[in-house]
Amino acid sequence: MKLLIIGGGPGGYETAVEAAKRGLEVTLITEGPLGGTCLNEGCIPTKTFCHYAELIEQNNKAGLDCKPSFAAVAVRKQNVIEQLRGGIDMLLKNVQVIRGKAQFKDSKTVVCNGQEYSGDKIIIATGSVSASLPIPGAESCLTSKEILELTEVPESLCVIGGGVIGLEFASIFRSFGSEVTVMEFCPNILPRFDVDLAKRLKQSLSKRGINIEVQAQVTAIDGGMVTYKKKDEEYTVQADKVLMAVGRRPNTGGLNLEVAGIDYTRKGVTVNDRFETSVPGIFAVGDVTGGIMLAHAATYQGLHALNHICGQQDSIRFDLIPAAVFTMPEVATVGLTEEQCKEQELQVHCLKSFYRANGKAVSMDEPEGYCKLIVAESGAILGAHLMGAHASDLIHEIAAVINMKGTLGQMQNMIHAHPTLSEIVQSALHN
Ligand SMILES: Cc1cc2nc3c(=O)[nH]c(=O)nc-3n(C[C@H](O)[C@H](O)[C@H](O)COP(=O)(O)OP(=O)(O)OC[C@H]3O[C@@H](n4cnc5c(N)ncnc54)[C@H](O)[C@@H]3O)c2cc1C
Repeated sequence: MKLLIIGGGPGGYETAVEAAKRGLEVTLITEGPLGGTCLNEGCIPTKTFCHYAELIEQNNKAGLDCKPSFAAVAVRKQNVIEQLRGGIDMLLKNVQVIRGKAQFKDSKTVVCNGQEYSGDKIIIATGSVSASLPIPGAESCLTSKEILELTEVPESLCVIGGGVIGLEFASIFRSFGSEVTVMEFCPNILPRFDVDLAKRLKQSLSKRGINIEVQAQVTAIDGGMVTYKKKDEEYTVQADKVLMAVGRRPNTGGLNLEVAGIDYTRKGVTVNDRFETSVPGIFAVGDVTGGIMLAHAATYQGLHALNHICGQQDSIRFDLIPAAVFTMPEVATVGLTEEQCKEQELQVHCLKSFYRANGKAVSMDEPEGYCKLIVAESGAILGAHLMGAHASDLIHEIAAVINMKGTLGQMQNMIHAHPTLSEIVQSALHN
C-alpha cells in the first residue's frame, strides 16, 4: 500500500516511520525542516532554554553566582535541534522524503515542486501557525518562533497571553533577568486548566517577580508600549520586546483543500474519530485538526489513523492526554478538572498533598508545589493536577492508572520508594 504524508512534524514523521516499519511504501512531503514545529521552534528549543533557566534558579537558591550566558544557551539550543534532526533523518531511512510545499490537485493527487504524487491513502499533518490579535501594532510583536531566535536577553518583556506558551517564555526570560509582564484576557492564567492549579501557579510566578495582569484586554501596541483595558480603565506598559502568544491556528493555507473536496473550517480540518476527513482515504492528524495542540497528541492521532489504515484495532484514550507546562515550578495535568466534574454533575472528592511535606523535595530545596487527585465516589481516579519539581514526570504514574481504569484502593496498595518525589502522589492517595 502507498501512503502519502504531508508534513514532517511529530504527526507526520512519526507516522511515516511506523508505516515504513509495517511495510507500507511511504512518501513524506515536508516544507519546513524535519521535526516540524516541535523540534525546530516549539517543544525542544523551549525546553532547552527551560533547562538552563532552571539551573539559574537552582544556583540562585544555592547562593552560587554562576549564570550561563543567554547567547551560549542559544547556540546549545541550535545544536540540540540539529542533533535530534539528524536522528529523525536516520529513522526515515525507509521513507521517501520530498522537500517542498504540497498542494492538492484533486482528491487523489498532490503536487510538489511541479511533480505529482499520489497514495492509496493520504495523511495531512501540516501543523499550525501562531495566531495574532486584530489590533493596531500586532505585526510588530515577536512570535514564539522569533523570540527563540533572540541572542540577547531583553531588559523587559511583555507577553500577551497567559496560556502555556506565553507562561513558559515568561518563566524563562524572568530567570535570565528580564522584567516580565503577562497580559491575560481571562480571569485566570491557563484558562482550560484546573482553576485551583492555575491560581497556585499564578501566585508562584508572581512571587518570582513576574507581573501577571488577568482580565486585561490588550487593545494596541505601539513601539513597545502595550495599551490594555481592565475594568473599563485604560493602562499602558512599556517593554523592550513584546511577545504575541495568544494561541495557534491550524495551518490549512495553500493546501488547496477545496479542490480535493476536504471539509475544513477556521478551527481546522474536519475529521471523525478515526481522523479521516470528509474524503474517504484522506486523513488529518495533529495541530491542523485544531484539537489539542500537543506533539504527543499529534503522534498518537497519526498512529490511530495508521492503525485504521492497516485494519488494526487500538484502544488509545484520546480523552486522556497528559499535558505539562514547563514553567518554574512545572505544572502537569491529566484527566478531568474539578470544574469539569462539576459541569458533568459527577460526585467527586479531591485528595491533596504538598511538596513541603516530602523529604526528597525539601532536600532538593523544592518545597513549593502540590498534588491534587480527583476521585469519583466509586473510587475511580478521574484526574490529577500537579505543580512542583518534576511534575511533568510524576503525572504519568497517575495517567497509567487512569488509563487502566484503576481505583484509589488499588493505588493505595502500591509501594513507592523512599525518599522520592513520587511519595507526593502516595501521600495524596492516603490523605
Ligand atoms: C513555543 C512552542 C512550544 C511548544 N511546546 C510543546 C511542548 O512542550 N509539548 C508539546 O507536546 N507540544 C508543544 N508545542 C506544540 C507542538 O509543537 C505541536 O503540537 C506539534 O508540533 C504539532 O505537530 P504536527 O505534526 O501537527 O505539526 P508541526 O509540528 O507544526 O509540523 C507540520 C509540518 O508540516 C509542514 N508543512 C506545512 N504545510 C505544508 C505543505 N503545504 N506542504 C508540505 N509541508 C507542509 C511544516 O513545514 C511543518 O514541518 C509547542 C509549540 C510551540 C509553538
